[in-house]
Amino acid sequence: MICCKECLDLLYDYLEGDLDAETTKSLEEHFEDCPPCISFLNTYQSTTKICRETLNQVEIPEAIRDTLLKVLKDHKESN
Ligand SMILES: [Zn+2]
Repeated sequence: MICCKECLDLLYDYLEGDLDAETTKSLEEHFEDCPPCISFLNTYQSTTKICRETLNQVEIPEAIRDTLLKVLKDHKESN
């Protein structure tokens, strides 16, 4: 069983579908028993969704889009 910290560390990769089946299963088992992590997941998911939708809008200047992409990338690497 993984702990909350591991869960949060894996969240980005989980949402990207980058985890292997075993890790995904451990994570989902954790979510079943951990309401705080589910609520974090929901917040995280809607934040990244808004981010993606913003990135898909053509009127966003390229410089800003690049900055946002860099932030997301840095976030992943910092985990
Ligand atoms: Zn948890």
